[in-house]
Amino acid sequence: MSEKSLEKILSEKVLKLEASPTFALDAKANELDVELKKQGDYIVRFGIGQPDFNTPENIKDAGKKAIDDNKTKYTPAAGISELKEAIVNKFKKDNGLDYEPANILAGIGAKQVLDTIMRAFVNPGDGVLIPKPYWVSYTQQVVLSDGVPLEVDFKEDLKLDKDHLKKIIADFKNPIKLIIINSPNNPTGAVYSKEELEEVAQICLENGIYIIADEVYEKFIYGDVTHHSIAGFSQDLKDITITVNAVSKTYAMTGWRIGYCAADQAIIKQMSKIQGQSPSNPCSIAQWAAIEAMEGDQGSVELMRNEYEKRRNYVYDRLKAIDGIECGLPEGAFYAFPKVSDLYNSRIKSSDDFSGQLLEEGRVAVVPGSAFGDDRYVRISYAASMDKIVEGMNRIEKFCKGL
Ligand code: PMP
Ligand code: GLU
Repeated sequence: MSEKSLEKILSEKVLKLEASPTFALDAKANELDVELKKQGDYIVRFGIGQPDFNTPENIKDAGKKAIDDNKTKYTPAAGISELKEAIVNKFKKDNGLDYEPANILAGIGAKQVLDTIMRAFVNPGDGVLIPKPYWVSYTQQVVLSDGVPLEVDFKEDLKLDKDHLKKIIADFKNPIKLIIINSPNNPTGAVYSKEELEEVAQICLENGIYIIADEVYEKFIYGDVTHHSIAGFSQDLKDITITVNAVSKTYAMTGWRIGYCAADQAIIKQMSKIQGQSPSNPCSIAQWAAIEAMEGDQGSVELMRNEYEKRRNYVYDRLKAIDGIECGLPEGAFYAFPKVSDLYNSRIKSSDDFSGQLLEEGRVAVVPGSAFGDDRYVRISYAASMDKIVEGMNRIEKFCKGL
């Protein structure tokens, strides 16, 4: 059947949904890479954001052991009790947060946990506040729940514009259920200070808006920056905050698909119902590996952090030296978010054009800023080996000089 005639039978929602731009770009980069490799060249991959490191050996061994021990059956919908205990311990140790296993839900990566939160909170027409620039799936997950993504502008420092936030809250007629605060931030690398988080959190408290604190990059912060968890600021804020995290980035486990969150028990109970009816449970084997990740030796995390910091410094220095590019110093995550719009010309009029041409001509994959809600920027993921980064930055510099 043709795509056109299927449109009559498929839901309006799915037809409206945008495909994940990070995954789409990676697929395109992959295709080109295969072609180029035949000619002895390749694409430098600064596109999709995932650690280039392998999952540490102790974690892989725990996964293998889980298979040998036949931990291969369905599990409780929100995760096995051993994993929930490990997550409780993690929140206590890393974030100073006291939770019980009933406050915890494990899901298929932070992405599916976030989707479950949306489904648990959003009625058709409800608003969800999403500060720009935002990670690609936030807006589309709201769309999937029939909600309205309310994009909050950002200021020079790439952090949320509080006046715009207040204006949206005052103007939007339907209930606003949630805000997503992502620090360290994808795509900007910005890390919010305690004071900045407190100010935003206070606005939410006053307006009955629940906070999703997406902290998946918490371990990757650089210089003298500190990570703060909103749920730790006061009991009132803990009550309205759902803290989301994952083993994906921290332990180079993106493919294992284990994410989790902590929230009020009543929220977790409702989310667990969704989990039981939809994915059933996160992969049993991956859950055992995640326990080892959180409870085993943490040395690999600092090794990776150190390496990312060196790369961040290098990428930032190289970007600053390119005429026409402006870039703030990323304080966390593994992304740089340079402003490239001063280089736009008759041939390159948008971030899609920029990243498209850079891919085809420059043989470097970066994600256009349009995917994150701002067309003046592109995102560079520096979760790549140093030799690839050097080559990629040489290519980007050459490409920009030719514009
Ligand atoms: N939040 C942010 C900010 C992300 O960048 C990502 C992408 N990894 C996720 C959530 C989803 O993470 P996961 O791979 O655990 O689903
Ligand atoms: N979070 C990563 C990124 O932003 C992985 C891709 C995705 O989940 O969209 O590139």
